[in-house]
Amino acid sequence: MATDVVVVGAGPVGLMTACELRLGGVDVVVYEKLPAPPRESRGASFTRRTAECFDQRGLLARLGDVESADSHLGGVRIDLGMFDEDHSSVRGVSQYRTERMLEGWAAELGVPVRRGHEVTGFRETPDGVTVTVDGPEGRGEHTAGYLVACDGGRSTVRKLAGVAFPGTPSTRGFYTADVTGIETRRRRIVENLPGGSMVLAMDLENGVTRVVVHERGMAPRDRDSLTYTELADAWQRLTGESIHHGRCRWLSCFTDASRVAGEYRRGRVFLAGDAAHVQPPAMAQGLSVGVQDAVNLGWKLAAAINGWAPDGLLDTYQAERRPIGRQLARNAAAAIELRLTGEEMDPVREVLGELVTYKDAAGHLAGMLSGLGIRYDMGSGDHPLLGKRIPPDLRLTLTDGTRPRIADLLHTARGLHITTDETAPPHPWTDRIDTITATEPPAPGLDAALIRPDGYIAWTHPGTDHDLTHALTHWFGTARSVAAAHQA
Ligand SMILES: Cc1cc2nc3c(=O)[nH]c(=O)nc-3n(C[C@H](O)[C@H](O)[C@H](O)COP(=O)(O)OP(=O)(O)OC[C@H]3O[C@@H](n4cnc5c(N)ncnc54)[C@H](O)[C@@H]3O)c2cc1C
Repeated sequence: MATDVVVVGAGPVGLMTACELRLGGVDVVVYEKLPAPPRESRGASFTRRTAECFDQRGLLARLGDVESADSHLGGVRIDLGMFDEDHSSVRGVSQYRTERMLEGWAAELGVPVRRGHEVTGFRETPDGVTVTVDGPEGRGEHTAGYLVACDGGRSTVRKLAGVAFPGTPSTRGFYTADVTGIETRRRRIVENLPGGSMVLAMDLENGVTRVVVHERGMAPRDRDSLTYTELADAWQRLTGESIHHGRCRWLSCFTDASRVAGEYRRGRVFLAGDAAHVQPPAMAQGLSVGVQDAVNLGWKLAAAINGWAPDGLLDTYQAERRPIGRQLARNAAAAIELRLTGEEMDPVREVLGELVTYKDAAGHLAGMLSGLGIRYDMGSGDHPLLGKRIPPDLRLTLTDGTRPRIADLLHTARGLHITTDETAPPHPWTDRIDTITATEPPAPGLDAALIRPDGYIAWTHPGTDHDLTHALTHWFGTARSVAAAHQA
């Protein structure tokens, strides 16, 4: 069996990666060891940039009405009202719903998701990867051009590839449960308890309450030996309330360990999502950053398989995404210390609280937390949007009077060239880039722009120090007609 790409893991990141590859015209299969989609949810929220990533593929509306949440770092609240852009995250969407939505999209795109199949080994050959899969029919092999490991924090593929996973080991344990039949009041993470302990209670759906407890000194635990009574006992010690009578639908624990893979790519193997970075869920960002890994990798790997990726394009995946994984690990560690160190941290909390009343400081933090602050290296230039994501709500005014949103023009995951110059000559990259002529700039000082399939602005006019052809060649390779002329 030969395929362009094998994706390991049908969590949110594996499904997103596979769909992005499929949009790029690539043959992809997903292997997932679980026989059926999980009903429990670790995550219940995602960041603004991840909401935008879903939006730019037409997926956000599939999640129904979503709620906005404010932003904080380890309990230090950032007033988002001071910004023009919406940095709020999306909450109240249980992870299983996000996964179900992505699995539905995968089915529409014709991506096979082979459940009950565990990847147990692989070997790389000069022109591909042979993957060993244990499934209901026994052991088999699957040959592919590339392997993408989206198999979670304990990634088998990462270990088999020998990629280092350095970071800080776990020192604290947290218990969490989804419970029905309790009437405890909502408790947000910004509420402080004396002594470096924390409790959190939030509404999920259908009367389910998510509770999280950490009591100062609570050590990391083995999930299998944890009981709901232990969690309820700790809850009672910290709040004075009993939730022992609640019906526990899901019980788990997590730690404050934080690790980032030494490489996101080794040869024909790529890592994405938790396989590449794990961190305590203090900032509720693992899924969000993983989905953005997928959107960054998908079009680049598709370009390589379709034969037009310029030199070095695949390596920009690690160059662009690993710093984000490291930043997440650092910020999550900072959030944990801020939130869980006792009164001795109060002066630091106060200083930070003061700093975030200044728009620049607050903007820097909000940009990291929402993902809207990401700026990739697109070469030199002084346009404020160069290297940043195109705001999805910007509208183009077209000659026929219609005003499409930019997000709606990115559904196909192709490049997008926006120009306001009706006399501009057509470029020969039409097989991978759509060109739209607008009657007025979509944003002040933005007469033209080149948008990558992941929504990031690779070139602007004015404001970039090189010309459009350079940017097109740098990100989208040699145009077909040019390549054909060279061959003739
Ligand atoms: C309590 C808690 C709350 C969280 N809250 C949030 C939140 O609100 N927002 C947020 O953004 N993030 C949150 N996170 C983090 C988020 O849950 C993870 O970052 C996210 O699930 C990572 O997705 P993934 O697809 O990379 O990995 P996973 O979701 O772990 O999926 C990996 C998949 O690979 C499969 N697999 C593993 N090994 C193999 C194999 N060898 N062969 C085949 N299949 C395999 C697994 O069965 C699994 O389905 C939270 C985490 C925790 C613990």
